[in-house]
Amino acid sequence: MSSSNQTQFPAGESAPRKSWLVVGGGVMGLKIARDLNARGQDVTIAEAAPKFGGLTSAWKLSSGSDNQEVTWDRYYHVTLLSDSKLREQLAEIGLEKEIDWVETKTGFYSGGKLLSMSNTAEFLRFPPLSMIERLRLGGTIFYASKIKNWRRLEGLSVEKWLRRWSGNGAFEKVWLPLLKAKLGEAYKQTSAAFIWAHTARMYKARRSGAKKEMFGYVPGGYARILDRWTSDLSEKGVRLLAGHPVQSIRKVDDGSTMLEVDFGDGRVETFDNVVSTIASPLIARSCEELTQDEKQKLEAIRYLGVVCASMLLKKSISPYYVTNITDTWVPLTAVIEMSTIVNPETQLDGNHLVYLPKYLPDDHEGLNESDEDYQEKCLSTLEKMYDHFSRDNVLDFKVARAKYVAALATIDYSTRLPPIVTSVPGFYALNSAHILEGNLNVNETITLGEDKLSQEVWPNFLSRCNEVAKSNSSDLVASA
Ligand SMILES: Cc1cc2nc3c(=O)[nH]c(=O)nc-3n(C[C@H](O)[C@H](O)[C@H](O)COP(=O)(O)OP(=O)(O)OC[C@H]3O[C@@H](n4cnc5c(N)ncnc54)[C@H](O)[C@@H]3O)c2cc1C
Repeated sequence: MSSSNQTQFPAGESAPRKSWLVVGGGVMGLKIARDLNARGQDVTIAEAAPKFGGLTSAWKLSSGSDNQEVTWDRYYHVTLLSDSKLREQLAEIGLEKEIDWVETKTGFYSGGKLLSMSNTAEFLRFPPLSMIERLRLGGTIFYASKIKNWRRLEGLSVEKWLRRWSGNGAFEKVWLPLLKAKLGEAYKQTSAAFIWAHTARMYKARRSGAKKEMFGYVPGGYARILDRWTSDLSEKGVRLLAGHPVQSIRKVDDGSTMLEVDFGDGRVETFDNVVSTIASPLIARSCEELTQDEKQKLEAIRYLGVVCASMLLKKSISPYYVTNITDTWVPLTAVIEMSTIVNPETQLDGNHLVYLPKYLPDDHEGLNESDEDYQEKCLSTLEKMYDHFSRDNVLDFKVARAKYVAALATIDYSTRLPPIVTSVPGFYALNSAHILEGNLNVNETITLGEDKLSQEVWPNFLSRCNEVAKSNSSDLVASA
């Protein structure tokens, strides 16, 4: 875009007010809707599910006999001290000051034992590894946390990079089981940028001075955040449509620049612009008029999905927020005890909340495993892992699954990304697959939304507005 175009319509001041549809009501869609609204635009947001929030949405768990219910996130969510964009968003809706910050502990299940790995001293005693292996493992994590130029890592496989820095012993005993638990066999196609992103985030979670890991949550969880956020958007004039799956988007066939959006139930609406935040393969399917190259790029993005159980318990099972698992017989990625952070008394009706996730590639049949089978697998696994675990303490057990969670950081991923500004004028494809400098989390998602809206979507919109203004003025001159 030329600088003269920018001068003609400075952001939010004299840009013409146009209609925008944001497709997808997860945090990315909510953030983009807010930023467009702040620029004076007429914004509608359409979410397929009955409620907004996507992966952050909540559900109810039964907490006992008197029809009591606990509402908490379907998937576990914590906020880090370093999540500045998310904290800014929470401040805007009046919830940032309420964040409860809690020091966390990390465990490892290794060799049939539960081990604490919450500080350097414990790390240096980690039994499965020799002293040399521990030092090399620690050195790798420290080195990864200092790397600034992640693009160098993108061309290397994660296995090659970790073997080089941690050595074969630490790789086989620690990294490989963790990689397999998180990525399955897809770890073989994953680049070293993946481990860099995870390490950098976890390092940030530690306060520089005390080196303590602090995680936060808003009382009421994401249910409360989403309630406030959507009410705030509505008050600011954003039109919110829940239960509105977008089926297709195409150019209006009358020579205008409008886009026609079909909601699949007979309703069709037109908008000047559409920003789609849904998973890349779904974007490819929703807009027939994209070029073959664009569709191929969107469809080629591989995702990691997840099956994740929420289990409400009468008794705690461990003191660790996350228990990483290196024993390969365990069919879970980790055990997450949310109630080590979230206050059981004030938030969970005196109970304990444990998440049991298994991440799988998006085409893995395990994503379709029945709830009953997954439940049985989880409970029998916990009986083997924890002597004191008893099914009698389980109050409720619910299984959530999502096919499209995080785009896989494959080798040279950034070179194959589909464009955000598409060949269909006014149609923008902006989703979390564009996260390159971090792992998937809410802070990274909304930071990306804000940045790419300012750097790519908005300039393109202004440029199109200028073209229309120029062609209108030359029409006027011609007709005068
Ligand atoms: C197990 C798990 C643990 C996590 N832990 C954390 C954590 O601790 N901290 C953290 O910060 N983040 C965490 N995250 C990540 C966080 O949830 C994501 O970063 C964030 O929710 C992504 O938001 P999104 O809007 O990009 O995508 P989504 O939430 O997937 O939103 C996309 C939305 O589009 C909708 N949609 C799809 N198709 C259509 C259609 N045709 N029409 C209209 N709508 C459509 C979907 O229903 C969905 O609501 C976790 C995620 C998972 C799964």
